Amino acid sequence: MKHFLASLLLVILLFASCKPAEKKESCTVFLLGTVCGIQLFTGKSQKDAHTVLTAAFTRIEQLERHLSANAAESTLITVNTSAGSTAVSIPADIEPIFTRALFFAEHTNGAFNPAIGGIVKLWNIGFENERIPPETAINHALNYTDYRDIAISGGTIFLKKAGMKLDLGAIAKGFAADQAALIMKQNGIMNALIDIGGTITAIGGRPQGKPWIIGIRDPRKRQGEPILSTTLSGRSISTSGSYERYFEQDGIRYHHIIDPKTGYPVRNNLVSVSIFSDSAADADALSTACFVLGYENALKLLSTMPGTDAVFIFDDNTIRTTAGFESSLHIINEDFSFAAT
Ligand code: FAD
Ligand code: MG
Repeated sequence: MKHFLASLLLVILLFASCKPAEKKESCTVFLLGTVCGIQLFTGKSQKDAHTVLTAAFTRIEQLERHLSANAAESTLITVNTSAGSTAVSIPADIEPIFTRALFFAEHTNGAFNPAIGGIVKLWNIGFENERIPPETAINHALNYTDYRDIAISGGTIFLKKAGMKLDLGAIAKGFAADQAALIMKQNGIMNALIDIGGTITAIGGRPQGKPWIIGIRDPRKRQGEPILSTTLSGRSISTSGSYERYFEQDGIRYHHIIDPKTGYPVRNNLVSVSIFSDSAADADALSTACFVLGYENALKLLSTMPGTDAVFIFDDNTIRTTAGFESSLHIINEDFSFAAT
């Protein structure tokens, strides 16, 4: 018996040592108007790992072709130019982003509003001709932003009012991260970090049982050290803030997150909201919605969304989180601190 156990142990040890070492592979590409990076650890050959990376980026590129509001043509632009006249067929594999966007519009009472396209185009923040639009133009465009006029049925989308324009910029990066994660898992990659312009999905961890560590950066600095770090596994994080895309005029910052009630960039005491969720698309949509809603109303919304956690950074450098989440965070920059209450 002793002999048998010793041999069994030897077999187990040999088997363990034959397991190929996990090697790091990574790739970074500019898509969706942002930097998209995937790093992974795998025992697969470099060629096989690159085949998986290529499949993920090909999918993200496809999404860009379907969902861009800025290109000469895309499925989204066809939906927009057909507003008020024709229902447009959409491929089954992108329908979920439209239905999820409508879900969040309904559950946030329009704080997240995919029908905001007309207003986004007026401001054009982040593009060459960004500007403060005339108030009359904003008020006129607000007449075309009712998400209840979006009809999704039988694989088609119909915008009921001519002049309506969809914009999925607040959910598409998350959807892309979810799709890339699916491709990783379907191809046996169990340790990967997918970063679509700051919307991050973590699968598994790093070698030797080390977790993925991600940072939330200083909202006021374009680059630099994160102010907070946390571990991430099997979850996604998305951050929305007033620092990402903006211009300043007469000392006022005009950023790209619009209050759908007013048509103007949101003004409150938040500089950023980060949402943690099992779904990157949900984290993306919710981070935008929570930024629009402000802290108190965001907490009410999140209490109806099980499995989500949030980090709010305020303009006085204080940090608040959803209940119990503070202990998962590590403050790196001492200029920031958790709020007393
Ligand atoms: P989020 O908070 O997630 O989203 C903010 C964006 O959502 C805004 O920029 C606006 O588009 C929209 N939005 C604003 N307010 C609301 C609201 N209340 N509800 C819902 N949505 C709202 N950028 C370029 O510079 N050049 C490009 O060619 C380009 N192409 C792109 C193609 C695609 C398919 C996508 C998805 C994005 C592209 N972008 C491009 C980037 C895009 O313009 C935004 O910068 C980006 O999606 C914002 O993401 P975020 O995480 O910073 O902010
Ligand atoms: Mg978002």
